[in-house]
Amino acid sequence: MADNASQISRISDNYIAEKVSATVHGEYSKLRPSSKPVIKSNSVPEWTVLAGIIAINNETGEFETIAITTGVKATPDADLDRSQGKIIHDCHAEILALRCFNIFLLDTINRISNHDGTSKFVQVTKTNSYEWNKKWDLALYISKLPCGDASMDDLMKVGDTAEFEITDDNPLQYIDPKNKTTIRGRLNYKKRDVIRTKPGRYDSKITLSKSCTDKLCMKQVMGILDSTCSLLMKDPIFLQYIIIPRISGKESILKHAFIDRLRGGNFPVQEFKFISCENHFIDDNHDTTIVREPALVNSIKIFMDNNRVMEQSIINGVKNGFYSKPKKPLRKNCEPIISRYSKWNLLKQIEFNRAELLNVSYLEFKSTLTKRMTLQQEVRSLLSPDGWITTKKDDC
Ligand SMILES: [Zn+2]
Repeated sequence: MADNASQISRISDNYIAEKVSATVHGEYSKLRPSSKPVIKSNSVPEWTVLAGIIAINNETGEFETIAITTGVKATPDADLDRSQGKIIHDCHAEILALRCFNIFLLDTINRISNHDGTSKFVQVTKTNSYEWNKKWDLALYISKLPCGDASMDDLMKVGDTAEFEITDDNPLQYIDPKNKTTIRGRLNYKKRDVIRTKPGRYDSKITLSKSCTDKLCMKQVMGILDSTCSLLMKDPIFLQYIIIPRISGKESILKHAFIDRLRGGNFPVQEFKFISCENHFIDDNHDTTIVREPALVNSIKIFMDNNRVMEQSIINGVKNGFYSKPKKPLRKNCEPIISRYSKWNLLKQIEFNRAELLNVSYLEFKSTLTKRMTLQQEVRSLLSPDGWITTKKDDC
């Protein structure tokens, strides 16, 4: 990673951070009102997390926005029964941004494979596979430290920890009492070096999605391609930069959460370069003197490679306006463009003549990516030696 990043000799890390932050904030201001937090009927304003993926040309210094996203919600595991790949499990902004990047790639490859133009980001290889143009580095902007290990110290500073003050011997913090390396949300908040599920109110229905720190940490080994894109791309793709407001002085926390936890693994790690930017995001909750509630709406906006723009807002894991109560069936066309269902169909459309994709389900296909599964298993066992608690099986 360091080699790649150092090729941008003319522009400093500080310039990159400020330019990325200003670009993502600028795009946020152009989102539809229905994609943003609101002031609720009781006059309480909502807050959210903003994320964005920006490509930076390491030869020319150009910046291109690939996606911006907002969101702080995750779907309870119990509500995934009817999903069949259509409900988004994890709507935290940084995770949505990575999903958007994969849809951006699938859409680009679909276009190239139909001889509908070329791409400055993706090239066809001699073996008819695809590869990322290495002139483009990738930066992930996040408006605050990701949930999980990396942000637990901030929680201590805010002082709102009473609810999470439980000790190692309290079984409440575990999802499975036999698994002491996976902790529910922010419980036992002083503990480190554990996998945490997404934070949520303790009285709410449980989500088993892992914290953003845990998911991002793994991307330094696995790269940011999902299963569908891994099939199409020759090599993995890694993020070069993560840019977050006001993280100067937090280097040791980030090192602990992202680097030290991966030590001892028998695999290469492409470390992120964290850079601090100055300005807070306008709809963040950093000002603790203002009471705010987490936004219900999550949103995505993808800037496709041929100037098409896709914007969708997502509530309860489905497209805004398409929600139905958990006992009822899902509505037709409720799936967001970044859903597993949409990605799987797009992959089958691109690879319509690949025999191994015919008559198998998404999860059956995923299990055939054995190299990827083995590596994932190795990283998981390192991060949570007591085992990996998965979300509900969601196949299509
Ligand atoms: Zn998160």
